[in-house]
Amino acid sequence: KTPQVRLFRMVCPHSPSLRRPKLLLLTLWLMFMAPSSSFSPLGSVRRSPSPMLRAAPGETELSDLKSREQSLRDELRRLESEKAALLRQKKLRICIIGFGNFGQFLAKTFSKQHEVTGASRGDYRDHAAAIGCDFCHLSDISSYTSKHGGFDVVVVAVAIPAFVKTIQSLPRSLFQGALIVDVLSVKEHPKDVMLQLLPEDSDILCTHPMFGPESGRYSWEDLAFVYERTRILEASTLVSRVNGQGDEEEGRQEKHSRVDRVELFLSIFEQEGCRMLEMSCKDHDAYAANSQFISHLLGRMLRQQGLVATPIDTKAFTNVLQLVETTCNDSWDLFYGLYKYNQNSASTLLLLRKALVDVEWQLKEMESKDYSSSVSSEWTAKEKVQERAR
Ligand code: NAP
Repeated sequence: KTPQVRLFRMVCPHSPSLRRPKLLLLTLWLMFMAPSSSFSPLGSVRRSPSPMLRAAPGETELSDLKSREQSLRDELRRLESEKAALLRQKKLRICIIGFGNFGQFLAKTFSKQHEVTGASRGDYRDHAAAIGCDFCHLSDISSYTSKHGGFDVVVVAVAIPAFVKTIQSLPRSLFQGALIVDVLSVKEHPKDVMLQLLPEDSDILCTHPMFGPESGRYSWEDLAFVYERTRILEASTLVSRVNGQGDEEEGRQEKHSRVDRVELFLSIFEQEGCRMLEMSCKDHDAYAANSQFISHLLGRMLRQQGLVATPIDTKAFTNVLQLVETTCNDSWDLFYGLYKYNQNSASTLLLLRKALVDVEWQLKEMESKDYSSSVSSEWTAKEKVQERAR
């Protein structure tokens, strides 16, 4: 007798199954094997727990992970409100040089928190007042700063072709000790100019908000903001510059406040929800030639062709018209700047021209092999002869 039979006898000594071997076997199968079998009616009630519920040794429980996740979220929320409270206390004095379309667009958001002055060749006093900021004529900037004091940040938002001339013509005192930010749609050109022409004790931040008055009209949420911290003065440079003696503490403090000033300026875009992309000016220009310049180029070409809406416009054609409108709303100076001051744009133009020839060549080649087109042209020729004979 097997140990299982003996066990069964001990548990149920009077079972009738002992006298019938087949019944005994069935009983034993039901007792020992069936619970793990998926065919058994007992299987459904006595099956071992689901593998999902059996935690592997050393494995962190899901609930643990969730509670850790929640405490990190709470910590992040605490940090964010601490940061927002700190930002609310800090105000920058910002001057925007070039108070045209884009300069005014920036001023609307900057002036929510900071003290902003626009400076331009044209008279934009009324526009500035409507935004809630101050204005001075570009030629009066020296007397304005002597009267009102200097700026923490000078944002240069003039047309790309006018950038060098503008930097050269502005008084050096405007730049000294300040953070100079350019917002040009090309990046290597203003970087080179600023490194060459600005006083050594100014900080330089090269930026390109990849949006404008149209795309950022209602919100800056999720719009890309590209920037390069081109030159933020090092503590060691400042130490010797502060008093010539090397007062380390003074140098460290100024370094700290300069870094804070950059962070405070970048926070304007972060707080508006921009996608912050730190990248070199070189990489920016390589990407921009194949995205921004090509969109403007196509927009201008299609405008040249005189495209207009029709009653049967497809979605694709509506998008084409939209491209024409958005790119041609920007100034010609901007378009020219994208071409002239990005060294990659000329080859983009050549590649586009080559691509047009290639596609046209493919169409002609296919046409030459197309039997039906030759038949149809023969047929039309025959028709014409008959028509003339009639
Ligand atoms: P823009 O035609 O490129 O520039 C117009 C601005 O440049 C005006 O403020 C104008 O001042 C000034 N300006 C032109 N020639 C000048 C000169 N010789 N000396 C001094 N100032 C001169 O149009 P924008 O759209 O306003 O763009 C301004 C800058 O922002 C450009 O560098 C552009 O690349 C950049 N940006 C534009 C956009 C956008 O969506 N529009 C987006 C990102 C970056 P006055 O009106 O006083 O003459």
